[in-house]
Amino acid sequence: MNIVYLSSEAVPFAKTGGLADVCGTLPREVAALGHRCTVIIPAFRSVRRSGCKIETTDQSFAIPMTPTKLIGGRLLRSHLPDSNVEVLMIDQPQYFDRPSLYGDASGDYPDNAERFTFFCRAALVALQRVGKRVDVLHCNDWQTGLIPGLVRTHRKKLPVLKDTATIMTIHNMAYQGQFPSDAFPLTGLDWPEFNHETYEYYGYMNYLKAGIAMSDLVTTVSPRYAMEIQTPYHGCGLDGVIASRGGRVVGITNGIDTSIWNPETDDALAARFTVGNWQEGKVANKRSLQAEFGLELNDDVPMIGLVGRLADQKGWDLILPVIEQHVAEKRPTQWMVLGSGDPRIEAELTRLAELAPKQVAAHVGFNDSLAHRIEAGADLFVMPSHYEPCGLNQLYSLRYGTVPVVTPTGGLADTVVDTSAETLAKETATGFHLRENSPRGLDEAIGRALYLRYHEKKNWADLVRRGMTCDWSWRKSASQYVELYENAVSLIASPDE
Ligand code: ADP
Repeated sequence: MNIVYLSSEAVPFAKTGGLADVCGTLPREVAALGHRCTVIIPAFRSVRRSGCKIETTDQSFAIPMTPTKLIGGRLLRSHLPDSNVEVLMIDQPQYFDRPSLYGDASGDYPDNAERFTFFCRAALVALQRVGKRVDVLHCNDWQTGLIPGLVRTHRKKLPVLKDTATIMTIHNMAYQGQFPSDAFPLTGLDWPEFNHETYEYYGYMNYLKAGIAMSDLVTTVSPRYAMEIQTPYHGCGLDGVIASRGGRVVGITNGIDTSIWNPETDDALAARFTVGNWQEGKVANKRSLQAEFGLELNDDVPMIGLVGRLADQKGWDLILPVIEQHVAEKRPTQWMVLGSGDPRIEAELTRLAELAPKQVAAHVGFNDSLAHRIEAGADLFVMPSHYEPCGLNQLYSLRYGTVPVVTPTGGLADTVVDTSAETLAKETATGFHLRENSPRGLDEAIGRALYLRYHEKKNWADLVRRGMTCDWSWRKSASQYVELYENAVSLIASPDE
């Protein structure tokens, strides 16, 4: 099959979160199964600074965004590392050559509707210029949500898309790309195409809704989240739209790129380690973090790691009070936090680190190497998310022998098995679930984890080793995606089935 992935992020070119990990890895894995894969992303400033070799092409185009505004663009070309997966980049400096992908300290860029409408329209032009017949267009998140509808409208005019199936993957239901309806004309479509079965959501233009409503199949990134988004709390207003797609909604758990996330080969680490010498490996990496961040030098103190976007989703309203309590009560714990995002949370973290510099270290910013080192040096990894479509950090934690403490929601519930007498006996336990979604619930779950670490050392070692040997590589998920693509293609071939 010839499969094209559309996304605003893909490692190693542009990343703010898990979307980038998925779109930089899944195509490589699917290509390894014998399919031809291409990725299309915007040529953000970070793409040029990624250090990857990028070629210019002679392909340029112009898109009429309004009757009086013709915006030009051109195609750049590269490859996903160590693969034959071609990456096409839509180069339009006015839209994409900016310091960040989606916005700055004052919020989202005000022209995001225009930027990503241009991206979607340009991506379709790019496909025609490249001239490949496409079997599956795999769209990811709201930034690509217009594609299924555009394909539907323009299919007859575009031979390359004649028999193309579209798939919309939701990586996070909370980000929908909703704008006033005056964004609609940017699509170049006529007003009758704007209605409640297509792009319209209560008078607004909603990009994710459009993708969900008009794609051939809808997926999300864990089976549990696929069910959850059909409920009002997790559906963020689109639960009805999802439910209306019935059996066409599928959950496939993300994998991890084990060529990048592997403690045996990870160049970022102070010491690499295997499942056979995890204890020494952890101590060496912990010491190195303690020295670098001025924490108390102590091999035995449990280090609690956190890496993630500083966004409400991730449960900072639980984490910050628990850190504060541990500091106030001088508990024997150490906290190593990395994150960027909401300035209020950044300020709180910095305050706590200044209050107890030997107990709390907070690095505000995006730092890939430090993320690896925290996964390696910490004993526990805390992820009390209010919702979590899949989550990757808990999977990295498992692989690095760092026991995850998580809310049992979405992909966290699907990938971390809570420790109990029963799961210890069945040898399935891999981490700890919060029993209550509150600071008290988080502290209690950390308490259960630390009890095991200090008082049931054999069980703790088993837990660590089991997590390290769980197979969360992309192999299984990539095969599931291929099956899904075959399904989508057959739906197009016999649409009435
Ligand atoms: P989400 O996609 O909701 O942000 P995931 O757990 O699925 O959450 O993926 C987050 C990815 O982004 C992981 O690869 C994580 O290591 C990375 N990440 C998040 N914040 C940072 C940061 N400040 N520095 C480095 N990596 C980060």
